[in-house]
Amino acid sequence: MNREMTWELFEEQVEACCACPLCRQIRHKVPGQGDRSAPLMLIGEGPGQTEDEEGLAFVGAAGQLLTKMLAAIGLPRERVYICNVVKCRPPMNRVPTPEEAAACRIHLRNQTWLVRPQVIVLLGATAARYLLDPEIRITRDRGKWTERKGVWMMPTYHPSALLRDASKKPEAWEDMQRLRDKLKELGLYTDLL
Ligand code: URA
Repeated sequence: MNREMTWELFEEQVEACCACPLCRQIRHKVPGQGDRSAPLMLIGEGPGQTEDEEGLAFVGAAGQLLTKMLAAIGLPRERVYICNVVKCRPPMNRVPTPEEAAACRIHLRNQTWLVRPQVIVLLGATAARYLLDPEIRITRDRGKWTERKGVWMMPTYHPSALLRDASKKPEAWEDMQRLRDKLKELGLYTDLL
């Protein structure tokens, strides 16, 4: 990892990036936002329309649900860091291709290096497959913890999936409780949880 990496440089590099064709059709880059030294990082798939318009991750309907889910375990959204696998909106909200995800990986890697989270929640199959294991099936593997280089990672449903199918909400709630338990076990957010 580049020891010279800084938030300024990260932001410049994301803004200037045209390593894949997604950069050609967007209104704004969506690098991610939140507490830059948060112990918890959440990673989604890619910006949607509202995110593209505002340049901020998870600010549309799915983002509002995510904010509520975090609040339900006592975490204000400002205390976590939230970003996506790709920083540019895929047209029609399609899943980013492996090439697009690979082209954007350097930014996510730099970002993870800068935040240094101890816990990462992967929101949906795309993030889980690209970042944890290409064989993941979210309905089967959600809620399971994996440790990678000292970082605890757990896939769960993407909040958009919960908006489409409310019957998944009880499982998503179980996962949020698992998240709260893990944060407590690791002694993180002790002022909140
Ligand atoms: N869906 C995502 O995966 N990310 C966002 O930022 C918004 C919706």
